[in-house]
Amino acid sequence: MDSTVVINPATGAAFQTVPSNGPDETDAAIERAHRAFLSWRQVAPGDRARLLRRFAAVVDAHIEQLAGLEVRNSGHTVGNARWEAGNVRDVLDFYAGAPERLSGRQIPVAGGLDVTFHEPLGVVGIIVPWNFPMPIAGWGFAPALAAGNTVVLKPAELTPLTAIRLGELALEAGLPEDVFTVLPGKGRVVGQRFVTHPLVRKVCFTGSTPVGKSIMAGCADQVKRVTLELGGKSANIVFADADLERAAASAPASVFDNAGQDCCARSRLLVQDSVYERFLGLLEPAVKAFRVSDPALETAEMGPLISAEQRATVASYTDGADVAFAGSAPSGDGWWFPPTVLLAHSTADPHWREEVFGPVLSVLPFRDEAEAVRLANDTEYGLSGSIWTRDLGRALRVSRGVETGNLSVNSHSSVRYWTPFGGMKQSGLGRELGPDALLSFTDVKNVFISTDS
Ligand code: NAD
Repeated sequence: MDSTVVINPATGAAFQTVPSNGPDETDAAIERAHRAFLSWRQVAPGDRARLLRRFAAVVDAHIEQLAGLEVRNSGHTVGNARWEAGNVRDVLDFYAGAPERLSGRQIPVAGGLDVTFHEPLGVVGIIVPWNFPMPIAGWGFAPALAAGNTVVLKPAELTPLTAIRLGELALEAGLPEDVFTVLPGKGRVVGQRFVTHPLVRKVCFTGSTPVGKSIMAGCADQVKRVTLELGGKSANIVFADADLERAAASAPASVFDNAGQDCCARSRLLVQDSVYERFLGLLEPAVKAFRVSDPALETAEMGPLISAEQRATVASYTDGADVAFAGSAPSGDGWWFPPTVLLAHSTADPHWREEVFGPVLSVLPFRDEAEAVRLANDTEYGLSGSIWTRDLGRALRVSRGVETGNLSVNSHSSVRYWTPFGGMKQSGLGRELGPDALLSFTDVKNVFISTDS
């Protein structure tokens, strides 16, 4: 079997080798997952719920271990990594309530009884990117397992370690063999096989928009169910009547968290022209105070980028651009990049239009509410965003006007495991988390029973 070397992004040093599955191993795992499905779907709802709760408890007992592994696997700050491991526990706990509540309907008909069932789909293939290896895995496998499916999961090549550990913890918690299988390997091999193998009945893909489009096209061939969570270029809209101090204090984390490698990053800052200079004056010290350091330090707010390639890509957007100000980052080994604020001179500027996926914030002034909404919507993406205003009517009008799946008013938070998450336009298809995600792992079956004698 091939292998890949995992590199610590904070040092650039290799620290672990992981086997990379080929097509034969992938096919064999899918077939085992299919056989496991035939029994898993028969497990009594209460027993399936208990197993998921036990899985959550085992994850909870390993939060520190998982977080430590993620710091080295991905360069995430230890604070974020702890939250991410806790999020997997919470998502498992949340969906552990589902097996016993997955009720169908009874529909009035003449001459009999008509009832619906939410049937599991079969084997679900989950393809995960490198930017949030644990939560994105959990958002797929927890509802999929709760609904009675089995799961094969492919972590990203750069960050397989925490997903592999979650697979081991599932077995420790008592999940039957082959109900949840983690298959490290290449996207074009393992991931592609999820798309083409007829026993995989649904693909959940999180990653870049171009790969997402090719997966959707591939799934069409077998009318395979698909959920896509893709890129973003979210707007952070600051109106003149906002609490500017709060908005400026919040803006750095809204884009520089996880070194900007966040699909929800508010990477386009729109500031009303009457407060533009004042707002940049408040933003500058907040950006310069953002602590970029060894991600294992408790005080770290931002760690390194994931790879040398990612750093080169990010630098290609800042080279020659109009830099307003920047924070600082460690020099030496590791893939460091400072938090950087760029002035956009046109909406055609590449750093304004394209997903940089690094710690780069582009700023543009706007005149009025209508222009703010028009500029926010002037993108192929529609994942997330924020609106800062004290005017409730405006908050609601702009929330309804901005074409995006998730918005926060006077806040930069994006994700709660009990509310739906996902993108409009080319940011994705379908929703994860909350009650909506559960039903997307089922098909409705309608049964009519005649009462004729
Ligand atoms: P990527 O598309 O390169 O890879 C994502 C995953 O897909 C990896 O596991 C990869 O191995 C696999 N893959 C690659 N080519 C494949 C193929 N042909 N067939 C099947 N699988 C394949 O993305 P990335 O660089 O790992 O992640 C960054 C991107 O993910 C960004 O665009 C970001 O916005 C997006 N993202 C979106 C969300 C969201 O929820 N919307 C969350 C996180 C990341």
